Formats: sequence, C-alpha cells, structure tokens
Amino acid sequence: MEERIAMMRDDPAVDLTVDGSGVGGLLASVFGGEMTATPGQCAHCNTVSIVGTMRAYTRGPGVVLRCPACAEVVIRIVETPTATIVDVRGVSYLRIERAAGR
Ligand SMILES: [Zn+2]
Repeated sequence: MEERIAMMRDDPAVDLTVDGSGVGGLLASVFGGEMTATPGQCAHCNTVSIVGTMRAYTRGPGVVLRCPACAEVVIRIVETPTATIVDVRGVSYLRIERAAGR
C-alpha cells in the first residue's frame, strides 16, 4: 500500500486531477441532477464505472473525465460565455436513475 501511494505521488498528472465527485456540481448543472453515483460505460474499453470514480482533469479550458480503467477520455465539458459544450463520445451509455414515482 505504501508503495502504491509513493508511485502515485511520483506521477505528475495525479496532482492535476480530482475524482469525478469533485466536479459533481458542474455535472449536476449540465445533466440536470446528481451524477456522481451514475454508472457509465467507457466506449474505449467497455468498463462500467461510476462517474464519481472517473479521473477529472480541471486545469484545462474545460473539464475532462477519463476512464479509471484505461485512462481514455470519456466526457469533456467546456463552458463558453454563452453555452456549455458537452462531448460524450467516449461513453457508450450513462444510466441515470429516475426518482421513484416519476
Ligand atoms: Zn476505459
């Protein structure tokens, strides 16, 4: 375990990431509801991951979510002054639960 932590500290990219739950507010505003517990399937490796466990890169002009299994880009969100652009071509599906009774 200590070895794994040391390896992660040596990866310069890790410092630039949060997990998907760190961008939960942005995702909620884009998709209209809580998304961090939502499962989604990576279109690259077919792994199903919870959005909250995806790696979020937030230092660029937008937010990029990457698959925790293969590290490919799953979702990109860019906010401009007049629009929000959502690129979901890296995801095969997102399973968004409806609240009971709706
Ligand atoms: Zn993947």
